[in-house]
Amino acid sequence: MNGKEYVSSVLEKVKKTNPAEKEFLDAVIEVLNSLAPVFDKYPEFIKAGLLERIVEPERQILFRVPWVDDNGNVQVNRGFRVQFNSAIGPYKGGLRFHPSVNLSIIKFLGFEQIFKNSLTGLPIGGGKGGSDFDPKGKSDNEIMKFCQSFMAELYRHIGADTDVPAGDIGVGGREIGYLYGYYKKISSLSEGVLTGKGLTYGGSLARTEATGYGLVYFTEEMLNDNGDSFKDKTVVISGSGNVAIYATQKAQELGAKVVALCDSNGYIYDADGIKLDVVKDIKEVRRGRISEYINEVPTAEYHEGCRGIWTIKCDIALPCATQGEIDADSAKILVQNGVNVVAEGANMPSTLDAIEIFQANNVFFGPAKAANAGGVACSALEMSQNSMRLSWTFEEVDVKLKDIMQNIYHNSKNAAIEFGCDGNILVGSNIAGFMKVAEAMMAQGIV
Ligand code: NDP
Repeated sequence: MNGKEYVSSVLEKVKKTNPAEKEFLDAVIEVLNSLAPVFDKYPEFIKAGLLERIVEPERQILFRVPWVDDNGNVQVNRGFRVQFNSAIGPYKGGLRFHPSVNLSIIKFLGFEQIFKNSLTGLPIGGGKGGSDFDPKGKSDNEIMKFCQSFMAELYRHIGADTDVPAGDIGVGGREIGYLYGYYKKISSLSEGVLTGKGLTYGGSLARTEATGYGLVYFTEEMLNDNGDSFKDKTVVISGSGNVAIYATQKAQELGAKVVALCDSNGYIYDADGIKLDVVKDIKEVRRGRISEYINEVPTAEYHEGCRGIWTIKCDIALPCATQGEIDADSAKILVQNGVNVVAEGANMPSTLDAIEIFQANNVFFGPAKAANAGGVACSALEMSQNSMRLSWTFEEVDVKLKDIMQNIYHNSKNAAIEFGCDGNILVGSNIAGFMKVAEAMMAQGIV
């Protein structure tokens, strides 16, 4: 059996055994389609059933999360933790609290996380978790009650050397604080069991900024490698959460003009360049909506609906909101408007059709698992600091982060060249991420 036949046979099996899991299937298709040349070169991987094993999570935990709201009513949500692969280190990956969360979404995120974590060069396996709980409109007390109930079950399955969750959509510093406090109470352990912690109890400087900064470091390296840079470029960034805010900050520092941001209701367009202090005040301090921007900056525009953001003419597009936000139609418009670079801050924001359109039109494409690995890389640096009981300065962490992002770009580029796909960073990142995990799995026997 050659590499292509092997990949097709495993894909057929995955489709049959996970028929209703669209997001998971898309993620598996995207990775596996890159790997055929690897199996031609290393047929021993086929014999060892590597792919069949890697597409099956090592463990999936689903649990009830009951809590009482401020009106005294009992609420019930569903909790998830998928421990996907521990070949190169403890499971590591965020928790997402959003009403859209289901097993398919958590599995797609956990699967991607295996290769992303491997790309960082740090010893962390892949996992992901979360709940269909919607934090929007909840009081601090309700958020705390929910987090405590969630941790009352999750704590059995995690630990500093077992599984180390972090934040994701809907889980920021506040939620990590409540989760950590309850873990410590019921386990009596002060250990680095979560990352994204506050600075007073084991958090790392630069973790808040890491995914957004890392995305821009990666993109700048891709641009530099092609004789270009962020300077004087027009940039559209979707989202207005953690990743979008710090991507905007770093892109502006490098001389770009960021003209648009969005949330799940609509987008703002500011032709003069986004005033980030206004956005931070709305989103980080007041937890408000992006539409409030035009109250403070009346020269800007607000439009209902998110997809319209991709109709804005730009040189560089950085999708930083959520999965599937750039479909084929949006990709076509971006290309027609002359976009030169698309780099993914969110996980799987471009559909498979959209990616094809970018590649067919020679758009430089930075795939999520490479471009947004800065967050988890910095989380791994937080784990190191917790183990050593030391804290590095912002500059020390930032230098390491930049170095990691530049290495990810070059390792992905070189893997693409080695396997005959020069210039295809998507294929290169899949192969580079896969190789380390594959070698570790081969060394550890059939487990
Ligand atoms: P946040 O919760 O801080 O922000 C998410 C942003 O995206 C919000 O502005 C939100 O708007 C918007 N959004 C959510 N759903 C939609 C939607 N359906 N349509 C349009 N906008 C939407 O999350 P993060 O910034 O942390 O995460 C953003 C993305 O980056 C996710 O894909 C996440 O998995 C990925 N990522 C995050 C990392 C991290 O370190 N935080 C690390 C690596 C990847 P609203 O407020 O209306 O919900």
